[in-house]
Amino acid sequence: MKVSERVIVVGAGPVGLCLSLALAQAGVQVTLIEALGEDNFLEQVPRAGTNHPATLELLDRIGLYPRLEPRGIIAPLFHYWDRRERKLIAQFDHAHLKNDTRFPYVLQCERIKIVEEALKLAKAHPGIDLRLATAFTCCTQDSDGVTVWMTNPAGETQSMRGAYLVSCEGARSIVRSELGIEFEGFTYPDRTLSIEVAYDFRKHGYTERNYISDPDEWSNLFHWKGPPDRWRVHFPTEPHQDEEALTREEELQARLQAFLPTGRPFEIVASNLYVVHQRVAKKFRIGRVILAGDSAHVNSPIGAMGMNSGIHDAFNLADKLVAIRHGKADEDVLDRYERQRRHVALAHTQAQTIRNRRLLEEKDPAIRRNNHDELRRSAEDPKLARGFLLRTSLIESLREAEQIP
Ligand SMILES: Cc1cc2nc3c(=O)[nH]c(=O)nc-3n(C[C@H](O)[C@H](O)[C@H](O)COP(=O)(O)OP(=O)(O)OC[C@H]3O[C@@H](n4cnc5c(N)ncnc54)[C@H](O)[C@@H]3O)c2cc1C
Repeated sequence: MKVSERVIVVGAGPVGLCLSLALAQAGVQVTLIEALGEDNFLEQVPRAGTNHPATLELLDRIGLYPRLEPRGIIAPLFHYWDRRERKLIAQFDHAHLKNDTRFPYVLQCERIKIVEEALKLAKAHPGIDLRLATAFTCCTQDSDGVTVWMTNPAGETQSMRGAYLVSCEGARSIVRSELGIEFEGFTYPDRTLSIEVAYDFRKHGYTERNYISDPDEWSNLFHWKGPPDRWRVHFPTEPHQDEEALTREEELQARLQAFLPTGRPFEIVASNLYVVHQRVAKKFRIGRVILAGDSAHVNSPIGAMGMNSGIHDAFNLADKLVAIRHGKADEDVLDRYERQRRHVALAHTQAQTIRNRRLLEEKDPAIRRNNHDELRRSAEDPKLARGFLLRTSLIESLREAEQIP
């Protein structure tokens, strides 16, 4: 294979790894560049962890799902709670999707486990030239291909030619800013506090995924497989609050006790504070350089859509690059990638995650009551429940994207 037919992928996060595996398994040579090295690859902060049914089908396609299932928790149910009343509002069961997917559940499996397992597959694939501890620095393109510059583990600058460059380097993409592509949208003024605790919330009626509405302090509660099993609770914070004060042990314990008064200190495993953006790149492609995943769009984690929709980008793009490589499509098909995935990022991922947050933080009692009634009605009626789950599990977004010419 000529070097110029190679696809250069920057970033071995979930999106870059899935893309590289899907390409390599279809016979396309890939160079995958990752800034982190063997020594610190697994030291990344906890982030995504809920994998929706449509994503599980894709992960299965590249042989990743069987490696993840034993490391995760199969969760067919998810809950909406009213924290003020300490009451379950609605329980949704993915069993309603049994005719829509082979995986009528989500898999609670953290990003770090996904990249660890995917990296093992990438290392074992002869079609993937994996460059760890190598930082992408810049690129140029011409009518035949792209030239990429990187700093190798010895600190030297190297360059490489390829047919296409795909930026999967996350929200702070250098490629996106080098290309001058606007990252349109907004950033929420407050940060979200995430606390991980070793405590079994199921004895209080919670399930593996819980979205909890409260006009004063909404939250999310998720279960992760250990050992020891951990639960992650998310809380909003005030914009002016100081990070050191917010993450002090007494402060974390006080928040947890207000959330669930147990009278005994929680075993806190970790905590972190993160900024939440709602942004979509104005273009997903300029010539031979393409954006995917967080490099192309970032959103609030309420609804677990960022990594999932990024993985959907990866597979959509992989199919198109494979078709180009095998002479079954011309380069215009990459414009369809942008039309499809940018539409999904705006009309589904962003719109839905903005709605999700509004629903949880709603202050008006009458609107809250209506929202809760509607959730209850949706959960209880099988037809409405299926429609609701098709949306929340991103199946609808994939079906809609298929219709975009
Ligand atoms: C608290 C939290 C919870 C979340 N929960 C969920 C969830 O449940 N479900 C969900 O779908 N999403 C969730 N998300 C979002 C999710 O984490 C991201 O959407 C996802 O990780 C994006 O994947 P990515 O591969 O595009 O980028 P990233 O995961 O950011 O990976 C980018 C990779 O590129 C590498 N890189 C960066 N710069 C360079 C460079 N110059 N050269 C070489 N390599 C480089 C990085 O080291 C990294 O390995 C959550 C986010 C947060 C903050």
